[in-house]
Amino acid sequence: MSVSRPPPAADRHSLPDASGHFGVYGGVFVPETLMTALEELTAAYTEAKGDPKFQAELRHHLKEFAGRPTELYFAERLTQHAGGAKIYLKREDLLHTGAHKINNALGQALLARRMGKQRIIAETGAGQHGVATAAVCAKFGLDCTVYMGAVDMERQALNVFRMRLMGAKVVAVESGQKTLKDAVNEAMRDWVTNVRVTHYILGSALGSHPYPMMVRDFHRVIGQELREQMVAREGRLPDEIVACVGGGSNAIGVFFDFLDETNVKLTGVEAGGRGIKRGEHAARFEGGRLGVLQGGKTYILQNEDGQIELTHSVSAGLDYAAIGPEHAYYRDLQRIQFAYATDDEVLATFQLCSRLEGIIPALESTHALVHALKRAKEMSPDQILVVNLSGRGDKDVQQVQRMLG
Ligand SMILES: *Cc1c(COP(=O)(O)O)cnc(C)c1O
Repeated sequence: MSVSRPPPAADRHSLPDASGHFGVYGGVFVPETLMTALEELTAAYTEAKGDPKFQAELRHHLKEFAGRPTELYFAERLTQHAGGAKIYLKREDLLHTGAHKINNALGQALLARRMGKQRIIAETGAGQHGVATAAVCAKFGLDCTVYMGAVDMERQALNVFRMRLMGAKVVAVESGQKTLKDAVNEAMRDWVTNVRVTHYILGSALGSHPYPMMVRDFHRVIGQELREQMVAREGRLPDEIVACVGGGSNAIGVFFDFLDETNVKLTGVEAGGRGIKRGEHAARFEGGRLGVLQGGKTYILQNEDGQIELTHSVSAGLDYAAIGPEHAYYRDLQRIQFAYATDDEVLATFQLCSRLEGIIPALESTHALVHALKRAKEMSPDQILVVNLSGRGDKDVQQVQRMLG
């Protein structure tokens, strides 16, 4: 493979289209009362995106507050262990607050400030997006309310404390299963009521347009850095990039600037949970089908009547019934491949990575590692595989300790 130059500054991908669609996926499926807010947000974001001052400000905070650029790390012992391709880790786990989520939280907080909105709301599942949002709100002096399922609050008590410490109000959601999906519903209800003064910082490349596009754009920095670092280090692009996929934000962020590089294989890894049986996993491409959930059209785990299925994963960040619409689009085009990893595989590899590299990965990111180790074995030593290590596992050690007995 030859050395590629960085892509031109202008977007080569024009999707989503003006109506927010990636082919049949995406779009705007919200109550009438939110249409104006979403149109206003799309206009404000489009303007900000083209404003060099906004981009410079964002770059400044990504460096100084979040800790970018993140390292591209050669995982020598995991490479030896697999006995095939060279394995590199893109170290998003080293970012402030522990995961890639801060990239998007910073971008949207700056946008809210630019729109003159002083009040921020967000949903959170495990609490990672809530913590990132609380941190940027503290930094910029914005009023912050985070909706979180009551069950999740109990499971992730430490993250609730972190958010409150940084000045956020955490509201317990007692409806439905009292988890992430219900927290999103509650956040949308709040937004409808308070939209004039409030910006909703959605945490993944999901939901209604413009969120899938905007969240993707705020995470593109991952792939842009990776491209530069890989060319500087190896004089070429990698053969494959692997990332875990919950809503899909870290994955589309690292993939996007490689979409035109057809020699670079792109693989998303979903949560296989306790195996591909109804209600036991969150692999939307294993048994999910087209539907609408929380503002956008995409692959969803649902029953015959369109009721959302229960999902399960050892990692809360991948435990969601819908996948970002752009992933569904590129899967149809066979540009992004998908696989899944089970809870058991993840637990084993969580320990392996910790022991061999001295890096404790987030359980979410470990899904990508599981698949990468299988792939590396099938590849030759002159090939290169990159894993996007989306977050660190400090938040998971208690849970893993309990599971290991
Ligand atoms: C939230 C989270 C994810 C899943 O979200 P995506 O939008 O799919 O990236 C993955 N890894 C970590 C560490 C997370 O906190």
